[in-house]
Amino acid sequence: MQGKMKISQLGEFGLIDALKKYAPVSKTVIKGIGDDAAVLPYTKDKYLLLTTDMLAQGAHFTLRMPPRLIGHKALACNISDIAAMGGLPTFAVVSMGVPKDLPVRFIEEVYKGIQSTARGFNISIVGGDTIKTDKIVINVALLGQVEKKYLVTREGAKAGDGIFVTGPLGGSLKSGRHLNFTPRLAQGRFLVENFKPSSMIDISDGLAGDLNHILRASRVGARLDRASIPRHKGVSLSHALGDGEDFELLFTLAPNKARKLMDWQAAQKVFYFYPVGTITANIKERIYAKGFTHF
Ligand SMILES: [Mg+2]
Repeated sequence: MQGKMKISQLGEFGLIDALKKYAPVSKTVIKGIGDDAAVLPYTKDKYLLLTTDMLAQGAHFTLRMPPRLIGHKALACNISDIAAMGGLPTFAVVSMGVPKDLPVRFIEEVYKGIQSTARGFNISIVGGDTIKTDKIVINVALLGQVEKKYLVTREGAKAGDGIFVTGPLGGSLKSGRHLNFTPRLAQGRFLVENFKPSSMIDISDGLAGDLNHILRASRVGARLDRASIPRHKGVSLSHALGDGEDFELLFTLAPNKARKLMDWQAAQKVFYFYPVGTITANIKERIYAKGFTHF
């Protein structure tokens, strides 16, 4: 039956579920499909992290956008996923599909964008592949590492935990911020080193959609305090809840740590974390908003 279904009827997450059963996973894999990055064995004290993202001309960017920013985004959305696990990025491979009549200059500029972001985050580009395609496709696979004690997944949220985001939300695609964002790596590391969140994810599908990923993985519910959700100027609440590609971090903290974070915050101006709600025990309390979908 499913064989006759169209991809659009299945949706992105339906498609991932349908394909997941064909992914062989050995016992050494700590976490496979279903989080921001895979968690793999590494050293006595550290895990290896692996994530990948693909951008396609038409779906994610057009030829009218600055090519350096397209390159930046291709790498930065992967860095954001490593940040969401509490880790640090290390090595990447970059693969591209390019049309034969595309000016060389354009693709060089894309690469320069990747280069400057890689330098800024201490990432080495160590390989990749190029093929001929009808439209530009860019795929980055990024490795990272995380101390075992600092690993954060989507699974650990508990009833009573505070829910936080690292910055204002909404309007990312319309404003062009989706091309020019700074992955919240510094905030992610600060959090795991000082407050150890119970769960964390980066906001790529929208606050509502990504919070629901945490709720499902942690088997809990949530209540958002709608008035306290930080929004970019001119953005409505429903867009702050539903718009994708903000690339802020969304995380939960045990009640005592949530209080400590707010005390710490009152005394400094380094980072700002916004409390937006509370985790509940009622799994029926899901957050509804039209989230960003890829199909
Ligand atoms: Mg993610």
